[in-house]
Amino acid sequence: MRSLIADAAREKLDAARPRLPRPRAASPRWDAVVVGAGFAGAVMAERMAADGGKRVLVLDRRPHVAGNAHDRTDAAGILVHDYGPHIFHTNSEDVFAYLSRFTDWRPYEHRVLAEVKGKLVPMPINRTTLNLLYGLDLTTDEEAAAFLASRAEPVARVETSEDVVVSAIGRELYELFFRGYTRKQWGLDPSELDRSVTARVPTRTSVDDRYFTDTFQAMPAEGYTRMFERMLDHPNIEVRTGVDFKEVQHSLQWDHLVYTGPIDEYFGHRYGKLPYRSLVFRHETLDQEQALPTGTVNHPDEATPFTRVSEFKHLTGQVHPRTSVVYEHPSPRATPTIRSLGRKTARCSIAIWRWRQRRPTSASSDGWRAIATTTWIRWSVRHSRHGGG
Ligand SMILES: Cc1cc2nc3c(=O)[nH]c(=O)nc-3n(C[C@H](O)[C@H](O)[C@H](O)COP(=O)(O)OP(=O)(O)OC[C@H]3O[C@@H](n4cnc5c(N)ncnc54)[C@H](O)[C@@H]3O)c2cc1C
Repeated sequence: MRSLIADAAREKLDAARPRLPRPRAASPRWDAVVVGAGFAGAVMAERMAADGGKRVLVLDRRPHVAGNAHDRTDAAGILVHDYGPHIFHTNSEDVFAYLSRFTDWRPYEHRVLAEVKGKLVPMPINRTTLNLLYGLDLTTDEEAAAFLASRAEPVARVETSEDVVVSAIGRELYELFFRGYTRKQWGLDPSELDRSVTARVPTRTSVDDRYFTDTFQAMPAEGYTRMFERMLDHPNIEVRTGVDFKEVQHSLQWDHLVYTGPIDEYFGHRYGKLPYRSLVFRHETLDQEQALPTGTVNHPDEATPFTRVSEFKHLTGQVHPRTSVVYEHPSPRATPTIRSLGRKTARCSIAIWRWRQRRPTSASSDGWRAIATTTWIRWSVRHSRHGGG
């Protein structure tokens, strides 16, 4: 009883005592600060911590690890890649063995079709592509090579990317597969790009329709994010997401800095801004089991506003009665995350919500937010082009 009264008295005294700010713990000096939790940053952090015994602080301004390879389960329960489809491929046994410490794999070879002249044909161009497009029956590599050679147009001096492609496979295939796609993707005509940009035209005379030909091709069995989480799960590593290095660098001390962000930003743009090209990802969930015949379908024609659409279940092997796809819309702007554009898209969202009341469709909420984002970008680009707000 006495102790209860004493406790109560102590609590009263405590409550009456003025609250002083707690003395702040001195910020520790890190052996290394790593900016970015994508492939470059996470591997550096893991190696320094596990192999070098260093104490490492990893910062990422996005709200997650894994950088551009980040994946997550969407509202429908389907594993999707926020920043477009990522397929793991390498010829390095060391790289594959290293990553295998953090994940099991699902064997997967990516295949891409291109919609050209109303047909779906393999991309990169191969013998099947030529047979389907031209109604041919080329049966050997030699026949396909001879056909391509017959279409190729000699170019006196190969200076631009257009020259590279036209001189290898001719103007028609160049225009069907490369011109529109490049103009959409880079905002430049191939005739404005140096020849080094398209140093090699990926055409095949065989019927190999794999997009990559690397020795190791696979997908992390539980997804990329899980693999990165395991990589960064080390007692010597502290991860802080949603933290921009620019905003905290003055309060940090380190011996080594690993910076994997945009290099012009690192120098505070004092040498100018690099001309980045960006993509807006429009995610959609559809009320059907399968949407595409392959993981990705390219749309090289300029009239289609997106460059490609990908269906994640092909990549992940997930079984689900619905399916999620992502459309890639090239954009001249810095990559707008859906989050950072949230407020700006609000106006578009209201208009889209009203339209949605009239036309029920099956896009997920992420899909709708992305459509709002895309709409906002189109709107803002149009306005900035016209000198408006
Ligand atoms: C649409 C698309 C598809 C792709 N498909 C494939 C594929 O199929 N296979 C493949 O191998 N590769 C693919 N890639 C390439 C792959 O995404 C990159 O090679 C890889 O992500 C590079 O890793 P990184 O760590 O260098 O950069 P990132 O993954 O971009 O990571 C850098 C991280 O740094 C963070 N950061 C930057 N600045 C700061 C700062 N100031 N403070 C805090 N954090 C900061 C960023 O938020 C980011 O998370 C694709 C890329 C794109 C865009």
